[in-house]
Amino acid sequence: MSSITGTEVQPHAGIVVVGGGLAGLELATALAEHGAEDIVVLEAGPGDDLAHIHMEHTQDDATHVVFAPENDPHFHRPWIPDSAPHYTGISGLRRRLGGRSLYWHGVILPLEDWALRTPWWPSDVVADLTESWRGGPSLYKQVTADLMDWSSRAPWSTGEASERHVLGGRVFRPLPRACRRPAGEDRWEAYTALHRWRDDDDRPVPPPGVRVHCRTEVLAVEVGGGTTRGVLVRDAGGATRTITAGTVVLCAGTVESTRLAIQALTATGRLRAPRLGGLADHIVQGFVVRLPTAGGTAAARLPQPGSYYVPADPATRSYLRMDVHDDGPDAVLLDVRVTGEQLPNPDSTVECRPTAALPWQARIRTALLTEDRELIGVQRDALRDFWRALAYGLGLRPAPMDFREFGDPVRDNTLVLPGRTRSQPLGVPETWTSLLGTEDHEGGSLPLGGVLTPRHEFADLPGLYAAGPAVFPRLGAANPSLTAIALSRRLAALLARAA
Ligand SMILES: Cc1cc2nc3c(=O)[nH]c(=O)nc-3n(C[C@H](O)[C@H](O)[C@H](O)COP(=O)(O)OP(=O)(O)OC[C@H]3O[C@@H](n4cnc5c(N)ncnc54)[C@H](O)[C@@H]3O)c2cc1C
Repeated sequence: MSSITGTEVQPHAGIVVVGGGLAGLELATALAEHGAEDIVVLEAGPGDDLAHIHMEHTQDDATHVVFAPENDPHFHRPWIPDSAPHYTGISGLRRRLGGRSLYWHGVILPLEDWALRTPWWPSDVVADLTESWRGGPSLYKQVTADLMDWSSRAPWSTGEASERHVLGGRVFRPLPRACRRPAGEDRWEAYTALHRWRDDDDRPVPPPGVRVHCRTEVLAVEVGGGTTRGVLVRDAGGATRTITAGTVVLCAGTVESTRLAIQALTATGRLRAPRLGGLADHIVQGFVVRLPTAGGTAAARLPQPGSYYVPADPATRSYLRMDVHDDGPDAVLLDVRVTGEQLPNPDSTVECRPTAALPWQARIRTALLTEDRELIGVQRDALRDFWRALAYGLGLRPAPMDFREFGDPVRDNTLVLPGRTRSQPLGVPETWTSLLGTEDHEGGSLPLGGVLTPRHEFADLPGLYAAGPAVFPRLGAANPSLTAIALSRRLAALLARAA
């Protein structure tokens, strides 16, 4: 019988899914939909609270949970940052069943063609994502349609896909978000596969064939004879035990999945040093500005409160986003940002120091390529140009816009905390730059077509697979979750067919 948590851990499983976050839950749910059985999801955190933070909290309180993680009992950073301040601050896991699918904002953008059509992404994976999946529409089309259908049952955003707004010389469209506002609520939630886990009384129950064990931390993948044998776990009672399984899928978030892979590949003797490169996050910068609405000047020309974007082009490898918020009777707040691609770099690494005790401690080193530094400059020019054009277009004199050195924590993305934005003087843009690792888009360290085959299996360790943004060979500019969900569904079909 299915249960959400608490049953005795069985010593054997058909498929073990390590991590019950966005990618792991999507995978387990899709596996069950394909009729696969004997699937066990192991989640290090608790499973008693499954509400999205924007359902649980007011907008301001939810922002504090994210940007002041000392307010979040589930925040957990299982790595040491060797390139501080990057991968410090708000960079970490939200260790609970649901993972960061209970925090995300539901932005669903496909990876851009210029990122996918490169030697990095395997061509069969790209064809499944963008052309056709199992004889039907592409994975991107199918997943987007499912998520928009889920959202439209209680619409959250007012934007029509065909809507266009010309501002600051740029053409903005409504940003697609898989979010909804249940009837009678002033709060909202974003999609998580947990929404497909409902019994007749609307209680979350795993689908048939799936067992979930919460507060169960995977310490290591067990290997033997050059193949995957199962996992070693610390269960809810603190006992260490083995679960044998011929198929193990790492869905523990990029850094944890990479840490587990390093341990396993070191045990097989396939890794020369206990480290894997290619770790990347998005490079994100922006500004927040309060604009006066007195006399209807700014308000008359700005779109309704909501999220809008201009797609990324290959020259800037960044997309422009603008969120419009009401800010009291006399002002609107604009939150403008560019999200761009940090390129794969062998010197951006997850590294472990082998010890007898498990788990090994992961350390993170980040490095920017020349192209990444150029992108930072291009993004800043784009933000300045946009602000100037926007301000003149609204009949305002643009105040100058300056940026601090990339990686300066004094002006990082915590500037968007409500208490800070509200005290900003009107018309003066406050710039900020995210530290790497704090966008929660980290990925790239277990690339498909590299460490992994195009079927998501470790090339050097049969039976071990991975899902989540960790498997992206290159990040592109788009937020990762639409692609992560699509790839979890792809992997589920491959595993179900193999079973
Ligand atoms: C505030 C916020 C807003 C975001 N908005 C967006 C957005 O709009 N669009 C978008 O595309 N992305 C967004 N993201 C990013 C997105 O949420 C992540 O990219 C995504 O959740 C990563 O999926 P994952 O499954 O790899 O990791 P997670 O969702 O973090 O899941 C990993 C799970 O593994 C568990 N785990 C870790 N280690 C172990 C272990 N050793 N044993 C057992 N379990 C373990 C963790 O507890 C966790 O539950 C946002 C993130 C945040 C925080």
